[in-house]
Amino acid sequence: MLDADFFRRWMTAAAASVDRAADRLTELDSPIGDADHGSNLRRGFTAVRAALEEESPDTPGAVLTLAGRRLVSTVGGASGPLYGMLLRRTGKALGDAAEVSEEQFAGALRVGVDAVRALGGAAPGDKTMIDALAPAVDALGDSFAAARSAALAGAEATTPLRARKGRASYLGERSVGHQDPGAASAALLVAALAEVAG
Ligand code: ADP
Ligand code: MG
Ligand code: MG
Repeated sequence: MLDADFFRRWMTAAAASVDRAADRLTELDSPIGDADHGSNLRRGFTAVRAALEEESPDTPGAVLTLAGRRLVSTVGGASGPLYGMLLRRTGKALGDAAEVSEEQFAGALRVGVDAVRALGGAAPGDKTMIDALAPAVDALGDSFAAARSAALAGAEATTPLRARKGRASYLGERSVGHQDPGAASAALLVAALAEVAG
């Protein structure tokens, strides 16, 4: 079973990973965006870490809901509302249980990913974070490690795609040949999850 501490550790590991990778994420956002994805997420996850320390939410749902709200309020770019939606909706779907099973979490994460799809209008293949998140949530039924591999493969597979959503879509054909920064960061978040699941 997964308790509030598991989800706190996920968010802390995600913050550390985003911090380490911030320069790379910003570099990915340079040819097909506005070169701020790493700094956007670093600011957001630093605030998430601080909020979790200040408020110590005591259920899985409360941890993710708080993290999502904090991302929305601190990240100016497109990724803030989208990742915020992902965590808030996943948290809400977990309800107020003190512990949740892996199956319950996989179901809740699917609710969250569907909400991101509804908010941003992106489908798999549009060269966005959805290209990492959708395969990850499908593989989560198998294991956390399978979800990590699926997210990474999905992120890498965005390179030859033409962007159909977000800033990169303004470039049309010129978006081809670059990995999507949001898909890369989504793979990091799923890898952090697999890391804390051990
Ligand atoms: P901004 O583009 O506002 O500067 P970021 O650089 O932080 O925001 O985030 C860009 C990432 O957000 C993209 O690489 C993409 O993965 C994701 N993204 C942008 N628009 C959408 C959308 N409509 N649906 C899903 N993901 C999106
Ligand atoms: Mg950007
Ligand atoms: Mg921006």
